Amino acid sequence: MSTNSDGTLDDVSQGWARLASTLVQGGRSKRIPESGEFVNLPVARGSTVLFPTLEAMAANGRNSHDHALVYGAMGSPVQHELEKLLSDIEGGTHTQVVNSGLSACTTPLLAFLGSGDHLLLPDSVYGPTRRFANTMLARMGIATTYYAPLATQDEIRALIRPETKLLFAESPGSHTFEVQDIPMLSRTAHEAGALLVLDNTWGIGVFQPFEHGVDVSVQALTKYPVGHSDVIIGSITVADEGLWKKLRDAAIQLGQCAGPDDCWLTLRGLRTMAVRLAHQSRSALELAQWLKARSEVSRVLHPALEDCPGHENWKRDFRGASGLFGVQLRADISVAAMERMVDSLKMFGIGASWGGYESLILPTTGRINRTAQDAPSEIAAFRLQIGLEAVDDLKADLANGLEGLEIAV
Ligand SMILES: *Cc1c(COP(=O)(O)O)cnc(C)c1O
Repeated sequence: MSTNSDGTLDDVSQGWARLASTLVQGGRSKRIPESGEFVNLPVARGSTVLFPTLEAMAANGRNSHDHALVYGAMGSPVQHELEKLLSDIEGGTHTQVVNSGLSACTTPLLAFLGSGDHLLLPDSVYGPTRRFANTMLARMGIATTYYAPLATQDEIRALIRPETKLLFAESPGSHTFEVQDIPMLSRTAHEAGALLVLDNTWGIGVFQPFEHGVDVSVQALTKYPVGHSDVIIGSITVADEGLWKKLRDAAIQLGQCAGPDDCWLTLRGLRTMAVRLAHQSRSALELAQWLKARSEVSRVLHPALEDCPGHENWKRDFRGASGLFGVQLRADISVAAMERMVDSLKMFGIGASWGGYESLILPTTGRINRTAQDAPSEIAAFRLQIGLEAVDDLKADLANGLEGLEIAV
């Protein structure tokens, strides 16, 4: 690590280099060439699995917790290979692939919580996770309390009740990029007999959840693993047999699985993730530092920069950064002027989601919902997803947009 307080290029890209071999070699256990095989597993599309005898069928169906081929809803060979590779990346023992990142967030809540239980959610949590807790879980008699993402241990302890069963974290936070103190949250959850579930979508590969005390790690694979903006898919990983049995039972009861073609595309995306992310993290840091020096910008919310809330947690716990960060404009620049700037950009698509090969911009003003702390003031702010374009082209486009802003003010 550098001695700078801000991240260096090596700081942001080392985690991906560490992962490169696993991403290429993992999830290919069926590819041991005996008589000549293609490199990649073929896609097996299927609902029904055929067996030679009833006895063979019964033997195969006995353990629905493992990767036996039983029925299409319990997964396909490609899904199972993808699950093995994800367990390796996350440092867990078992992974359940589900049909979306949102399902990856909601399925553990349904697996580990019941009527009368209490849940803690960070105020910075992904919006649809918040809506699920406030509507579905509330209807089922599961209460949610929101906590400030950078709350101290005493502040968290004060929110814990006897019926608190689960503490949810998302680090860095959606739109506002607070990097949470996961080891502290883990200790605090565990002393209360609760589980810590982490949305690790931003940190895939550079944050090892189980080393830091997380019990369940969820991801929107839709983002970097898929990498090409063409599939919606999610994953839930654990490192404990008991948790796995509960999670797997819930996933089966909910009918959670993902289509074989989507699993195949995700596995293919993962093969190149280390090189994509090494490039994207470097471009993102370069642009973040360049933006920080611009007069139109008041603050850059990039976990590797000191300005980012929880930067010290990033320095301590992360092995790199990814390519998504936030930008706040000077207070005298209006939201309308920022919106005109966003519309004027040529290289940045306007759209939700991130993690693909292409750069995106999304205004975050007005999208931030807070109940545990004051909502941020309505300053002009946006989120950038940095893709694989030449960084100089991205910089030139942003420079044009920012220069246009000064005129519009
Ligand atoms: C995108 C996202 C999700 C949801 O993923 P989908 O695949 O779009 O359902 C969940 N959590 C975070 C942090 C995300 O960015």
